[in-house]
Amino acid sequence: MGLKSKTMEIVKYFEFKFNKNLGQNFLIDENILKKIIDAAELDENSTVIEIGPGIGTLTQEMAKRCKKVVAVEIDKNLIPILEETLGNFKNIKIIHSDALKVDFNKIIKEENLENVKVVANLPYYVTTPIIAKLLNERVKISSMIIMIQKEVADRILAKPNTDEYGTLSLLCQYHCDIKKICKVSPNCFVPPPRVESMVIRLDIRDQKRVEVLDEELFFNIIKSAFNMRRKTLSNSLKSIANEDILLKALEELSIDPKRRGETLSIEEFAKLSNILSKQKS
Ligand code: SAM
Repeated sequence: MGLKSKTMEIVKYFEFKFNKNLGQNFLIDENILKKIIDAAELDENSTVIEIGPGIGTLTQEMAKRCKKVVAVEIDKNLIPILEETLGNFKNIKIIHSDALKVDFNKIIKEENLENVKVVANLPYYVTTPIIAKLLNERVKISSMIIMIQKEVADRILAKPNTDEYGTLSLLCQYHCDIKKICKVSPNCFVPPPRVESMVIRLDIRDQKRVEVLDEELFFNIIKSAFNMRRKTLSNSLKSIANEDILLKALEELSIDPKRRGETLSIEEFAKLSNILSKQKS
């Protein structure tokens, strides 16, 4: 039986009602499932944290290939379904919780997870906060293989001087090496979402892309620069440093104060932040 018929049968049998507010679009395409699994490069030593297992389609394929899968699902209506579909697997643990509220590092410790990867067909309404949480909380994972809205993937991969370039691009590019895996059309899901999707892989770098002396300041500068992305740097960074200090720092770096934040490379943001952090101390 194909994945689509199998999914529909389970949905029907359990009288499951899709909850749009929870971003429930279940994967029904075997080809894409295989691409995600291949991109995750799982083996008997790796473990997986899955966010939003749905009815367990991806979960069981991963459990066949790795040591353990811990899956975090928010919808209580899916828990009895998962207990049934995944009942035969001894290496799967289901946690009924909101992924935005769990302490992933605590789970990793409690479940003795090693060589951890996050693999997920993410609920689209919380994609950005989930990625930000995993990176900002320095969750001990080596990579994320995630299906997300194509538009968000474009923002993650964006280069300076584009509309897509912003805080999410810089956050992800600072922490990770990023690779596109494949585009995914809406008809690979039930129900089909209104947007195109993309699978990407983010490998967490041991050494960050640029050397930053004060990460808080670095990301505050980025936030301010993009909060007012149409304004010049001398305007948008007023809240970060007084005008004299700011203009001097920009001059030292040969950055025209009339430039907008969206034109700065990650290296330029790092240099600016490092000069300003020295002024502060
Ligand atoms: N993994 C399944 C698949 O590929 O078919 C389902 C993916 S579906 C796009 C997203 C899943 O995330 C749903 O099962 C949904 O209930 C769950 N979910 C939504 N918000 C969540 C949250 N905050 N924490 C954990 N799971 C969540």
